[in-house]
Amino acid sequence: MSRRLRVLVVEDEVELASVVASYFEREGYFVELAFDGHTGVEKARSGTPDLIILDLMLPGIDGIEVCRQVRTFSDAYILMLTARDEEVDKIVGFAVGADDYLVKPFSPRELIARSKAILRRPRLQDSLDGVEALSRILRFGELAIDSSARTVAVGEKIIELTRTEFDLLEILVESPKNIFSRRQLLELVWGGDWYGDIHVVDVHLGHIRKKLSEAGMSDGTIRTVRGVGYGMELK
Ligand code: CA
Repeated sequence: MSRRLRVLVVEDEVELASVVASYFEREGYFVELAFDGHTGVEKARSGTPDLIILDLMLPGIDGIEVCRQVRTFSDAYILMLTARDEEVDKIVGFAVGADDYLVKPFSPRELIARSKAILRRPRLQDSLDGVEALSRILRFGELAIDSSARTVAVGEKIIELTRTEFDLLEILVESPKNIFSRRQLLELVWGGDWYGDIHVVDVHLGHIRKKLSEAGMSDGTIRTVRGVGYGMELK
């Protein structure tokens, strides 16, 4: 039996938060609540949730900023709640890395159904479980990826990547001459039944680029081919 799935609900409307929590609890999830953005980020870090239900308009820091901060250390699925349709543009436009969103008012049943759909999306690592991991080191310039240990190093320096970041980088480095469209990367990392904002890919790739350059990688990076997608590039 696998562990109970953990859900973090970040919502300042206390009544709504507790209704949502009770629905998830009824479905057997372990639920934590946060009523403002800062607490949301803290609990995302300490509670290692599988899924975060995140309201857009929050006191303190808003849902977009929460999402951005959480994405630097967590691969939890994020479903954003918005009060109005116009705010959807905000979520999509900011490309903050949310996996899906729901416009208020919504039925708790719909929220549960959407959440289950998100949680069913296979991550690349999950789809590889049960298959004997190949022990191999992928190299690209100073970059070395150990696929079985799931570690990444630039020169001697090990860098910390989230699960999604690792999966994306591994795909790019496995086929360094390929240019992948956002859609292809989404399908490879999140699975084929993806729906939502495809710019989520840009957010993760931006984080990887930053981490590579902070680790001192000087001879290559992830390149953007305008209108086509992403690939690796040696300098
Ligand atoms: Ca709110």
